[in-house]
Amino acid sequence: MNYKYLLIDSYDEGAIVRITLNRPAARNAQNRGLLEDLAHAFAAAEKDDKVRVVILAGAGPIFSGGHDLGSDEQKTETNPGPQQLESFRTNGAARQAAEKRSLQEWHYFFQNTLRWRNLRKITIAQAHGKVISAGLMLMWSCDLIVAADDTLFSDVVGTRLGMCGMEYFAHPWEFGPRKAKELMLTSDAIDADEAYRLGMVSKVYPKDQLAEKTLTFARRIAVVPTMAALMIKESVNQTVDNMGFYNALNASFTLHQVNHAHWAELHATRGENPHPCATPEDGVPDWRNPPPTQISRKDS
Ligand code: ZN
Repeated sequence: MNYKYLLIDSYDEGAIVRITLNRPAARNAQNRGLLEDLAHAFAAAEKDDKVRVVILAGAGPIFSGGHDLGSDEQKTETNPGPQQLESFRTNGAARQAAEKRSLQEWHYFFQNTLRWRNLRKITIAQAHGKVISAGLMLMWSCDLIVAADDTLFSDVVGTRLGMCGMEYFAHPWEFGPRKAKELMLTSDAIDADEAYRLGMVSKVYPKDQLAEKTLTFARRIAVVPTMAALMIKESVNQTVDNMGFYNALNASFTLHQVNHAHWAELHATRGENPHPCATPEDGVPDWRNPPPTQISRKDS
């Protein structure tokens, strides 16, 4: 299968599959086409009984810069016309306002991510460069995360878009509750060593050896009996689900929609395009030209 936005590599007679986000010029920003390709590729790997481990990587300088916030490609696939994707006419897209937004985000940002988190295979995110906002949720959907030593992780939507994180709100579970607040209120990044210290990342590898060492790590996991591997994954996932993970994600998705609705209503009240995120007129910097990211350190 050839994908427009992904590269697929297979190793060890199909036991390991590497899915690489392949939109490097756009810093692997997640447009709908990329997310649909990803849904297909994850489902294909899940369906194939030869596959034991799936690696999720990114081509180019960074893993992923987040959601596509309006590239020409995104406009073409969104707006009516011959290249409009079918999913922009269904799953709530034909409705209006908050109903439309919440249905589309439920399908394409929340439930798809949850679906990948529950994939019947072991998944490893191979992070490098930067992992920003929706890049985090894509990475977090994986069972394990390894990172190049240059990786910075940040969620910038609080300070730049006036939003309470993303549609898949795993922040407190991944960073810890208080660190989640700090990182979201400042948009500061953590580096790979801090991510390792927090337990979010399992391995930190030299950048030039990342792909090869991730494959070696995947090979160790690929020899675990598949039944044991899945039961280990499920034991942990069902434990955190019983600790409230799933319900908290649902609740936070609703808060995310309230946050969007606030901006859309405020902008409509001012007679502007009802954009569902904060704009520079609301006191945030222009996200196209943001201030440099700082790294969270204990003394600065
Ligand atoms: Zn949203």
